Amino acid sequence: MYLHSLYLQDFRNYREQRVTFEAPKTIIVGPNAQGKSNLLEAVELLATLRSHRVSRDRDLVRQQAQTARIEAQIQRSYGDLDAALILRTQGRRTAWRNQETLRRQLDFLGTLNAVQFSCTDLELVRGGPETRRHWLDALVMQLEPVYAHILSQYNKVLKQRNALLRKLKRGEMQRRETAPQLAVWDAQLVAHGTRVTRRRARVLRRLAPIAQTWQQRISGAAETLTTAYQPHVVWREDEVQAVQQLFLQQLQQRAIAEQHQGRTLVGPHRDEIAFQLNDVPARTYASQGQQRTLVLALKLAELELIEQVVGDAPLLLLDDVLAELDLQRQHQLLETIQARCQTLITTTHLQTFASDWLHSAQVLAIQDGQVSPANFLANTITR
Ligand code: ATP
Ligand code: MG
Repeated sequence: MYLHSLYLQDFRNYREQRVTFEAPKTIIVGPNAQGKSNLLEAVELLATLRSHRVSRDRDLVRQQAQTARIEAQIQRSYGDLDAALILRTQGRRTAWRNQETLRRQLDFLGTLNAVQFSCTDLELVRGGPETRRHWLDALVMQLEPVYAHILSQYNKVLKQRNALLRKLKRGEMQRRETAPQLAVWDAQLVAHGTRVTRRRARVLRRLAPIAQTWQQRISGAAETLTTAYQPHVVWREDEVQAVQQLFLQQLQQRAIAEQHQGRTLVGPHRDEIAFQLNDVPARTYASQGQQRTLVLALKLAELELIEQVVGDAPLLLLDDVLAELDLQRQHQLLETIQARCQTLITTTHLQTFASDWLHSAQVLAIQDGQVSPANFLANTITR
């Protein structure tokens, strides 16, 4: 797929800006705090409806403005798409595709696919399980947009069930009174939760071998990566009834503890994804360089899997990560993506790039939310 152009209005530090992408590789260069990551964030929003930096739309709308607009012209293998998202400081978003306002925002998923790689992604290895669940969920949503709906249903039930358990804990309600309502929540939690855990498992099963191949390739066959899904409800038989039954049993076993703690203790909101390098946990044992390679291998695997499933290569968004990789790994990454997919790369310095790269790529300069073609040749000669 190819993103032809992007139009931003009152998004972050952009007042009004059209950006046309004229080559499969675009390098976006500028000093700190000029709007490089903001530009990639706009593309990320189109792909996932989420930003990995903030959860409130209010932060995405330019200060002093009320609404932000992100428009895109996208070429897909099945045809061209015009898409737009309107974000508001107050109120709901509007999603729009080919002259049509979409009734549900979630229907917008699948319009554009993208894999983002930024330095905060090291948190995937170093951070808590929530970071990894969030990452996996975003991937599953891109592969199967209906998952966004499933997950939001699960989270809704989880919230309501927790509210009821809190009342029990505080003594505001008695077990006897809550029992019928709790039984309803239990059944719904189990039904939605089973769908969540089975889909997560299915995607990781496909991703793991691809990630392993990349890890070996980048590390020169020295390292073996295992990516294991560790569901909180440990099921083996991949069959709806069996998983649901196990889930319900475990809920019942923890009923007293849940009442005591006032929250749901069983379910996929407690899942973990474990990365091991050469059979030891990457989080505690791997060096910084190994952790970077692992994240890079995961990102390349995501790219490949989305391409397989969707049938169209996603965009790759590289936010300031090249400088963090050593030369061999940089080279590996650039070689891999050379002809594969449209790539937007942000950087503060063009020195990081090989000259043949600079010549084949479109180079844009960003200053204070304004984008212009960069006069990079002058820079490289004077250095
Ligand atoms: P770095 O090289 O440090 O990563 P960057 O070019 O990626 O910098 P961005 O994160 O894209 O920087 O942009 C940061 C700028 O955008 C900051 O100056 C910030 O104040 C501004 N900004 C962020 N949100 C808003 C907003 N809602 N309204 C106005 N300006 C904003
Ligand atoms: Mg940035």
